[in-house]
Amino acid sequence: MAARERKQPAPVSSEPVQAGIPAAAQESRNVVALHGAPASPLDLPTEVFRAGLDRRKANRAALMEWIRSALVEGTDYGRIHTASKQKCQLAAHGRAHECADPRHWSKPSLWKPGAEKICGMLGVSVTFPTLHDYEQAALRGVDLKHVIIRCEIRDASGRVVADGVGARGIAQDCGDLNKALKMAEKSAHIDATLRMAGLSEVFTQDLEDMKPEQTEPPADRTARPTISAADHRRLEATIRDYGLDRERVKEWVRKACKVDHFPDLSPAQFEKLLVKLRQWADEEAQRLAYENAQIADAETDKCPF
Ligand SMILES: [Zn+2]
Repeated sequence: MAARERKQPAPVSSEPVQAGIPAAAQESRNVVALHGAPASPLDLPTEVFRAGLDRRKANRAALMEWIRSALVEGTDYGRIHTASKQKCQLAAHGRAHECADPRHWSKPSLWKPGAEKICGMLGVSVTFPTLHDYEQAALRGVDLKHVIIRCEIRDASGRVVADGVGARGIAQDCGDLNKALKMAEKSAHIDATLRMAGLSEVFTQDLEDMKPEQTEPPADRTARPTISAADHRRLEATIRDYGLDRERVKEWVRKACKVDHFPDLSPAQFEKLLVKLRQWADEEAQRLAYENAQIADAETDKCPF
């Protein structure tokens, strides 16, 4: 009898069934009609809010399922062997591609073909609104050291659903501005795609779940894990590419991570820092765009004689 009772669903509320989602949704529409958009999603009627969360969760699961089936490792995304030759025998013999130690490999990173597939599947369009400014600057003969390109992803109604930033030092491409713009465009596109619907977090975690045998924790759990030499190089390169002040970054790391040197960062702190660097680059891009506009104005005002 007790077992049977447990199978009975507990009553959620004493209100009649008709007062469920449709009524709540109706109430929500009335609120919107009277006051415009609700001030915060937390002001929505509970049932509407819960239905929204459930839908989001289900859609995310569907998206991940699609990503697992449609994206090909080595074509759409990939991992990099990051362990040094001292740490990996196979790497020491130039056979890192044969290495099966999951700790030696980076998290999977999304590549351009993968980003294009995801955007195509979601029916969104990709634009680079600041690209034109760089083309104009190049035509005017402005000596550029870095390019920072913004990517905007828009849904069918033209609403921006995600944006991303890609930066590139011109020197990296031997002064070839066109190539630098293409590379910056590519990373901005990937960045924006990852940010769309919080894919950044989902992508790295769930794709790793594809191979359960690779999820075992490191043997030595007492030592605090720190970033690999490759991650350190990537960090320095990112700071350089974004044209950020290295000392300013170090200062932030000292305060936020309680770490004096970049190689002492934990992988989690490293990931957090990369996000922060992107934000700073974003701010810097806005500042540069503003300055470029000022320069353009000044040049238009200049007397040609
Ligand atoms: Zn290895």
